[in-house]
Amino acid sequence: MKKQSVLRITSISAIALIAIIFSACSLFKSLDLGRANLFPIDQDKELGLQVKQEIEANPQEYNVMKRSEYPEAYQHLDRMMSAILNSGELKYKDEFAWEAYLIKDDETLNAFCTPGGYIYVYTGLIKFLDNESDLAGVLGHEIAHADRRHSTQQLTKLYGVEILSQLALGQASSTTIAAVAKSLAQLKFSRAHETDADNHSVKYLCPTEYPADGAAAFFEKLIDQNMAGGTPEFLSTHPSPDNRVENIKAQRKSLTCNGTNEFTSRYAKFKAALP
Ligand SMILES: [Zn+2]
Repeated sequence: MKKQSVLRITSISAIALIAIIFSACSLFKSLDLGRANLFPIDQDKELGLQVKQEIEANPQEYNVMKRSEYPEAYQHLDRMMSAILNSGELKYKDEFAWEAYLIKDDETLNAFCTPGGYIYVYTGLIKFLDNESDLAGVLGHEIAHADRRHSTQQLTKLYGVEILSQLALGQASSTTIAAVAKSLAQLKFSRAHETDADNHSVKYLCPTEYPADGAAAFFEKLIDQNMAGGTPEFLSTHPSPDNRVENIKAQRKSLTCNGTNEFTSRYAKFKAALP
């Protein structure tokens, strides 16, 4: 219940342009839910790729399961990703990478996303959940953070123009990069972004076979087991898990969603394919 992503910033074009963009973003930050993000989306993709490389270079912290060793587990994960991505509700479905990876770590109940659509799911989370639709809800939430570009906005808020410009232009020292990477491991989204990601999880799942409020199941189980005080990415302290369950269910009711299949037995096979 502790580990999160490590991010690194990479190069984009002109420093002046970056300065303008970051200033504009900081003006919008309190009301921006993704629509006013003025970064070129290439920045999200570059950033995501840097993070992916950082994660792969650090197998002690992130024990990423190889696709060649666990083809069956990845078949399950990829099928779920496709169902959500093909909902027709994503803005950057064709632009972002949308690659999902499994991290072998049964102690961590977490999943996280990078900018540009790299999603990481811990085996601890998969084993904790009971149905495929529960995990689909969490995946939808993480996909939303990337597609709605919350991650990029959060970085803007944390680092401001000078440090980000240095990093973006590849001019930061390795010490600075390491420090930023470390602090990014505790990256928290705002309450507004968490609610937005929950709402979009419902929206993405709505056209699928899954019940659209799948994300609520995770919080319900945590509440049942009195574990709601933890800090995985999608369980920030605000809004409270109770409110999130309520909100997610209300969102589902507000839309016409027909999916009802929780795919319980197929999910058991997914779990069985994990180490
Ligand atoms: Zn979240």
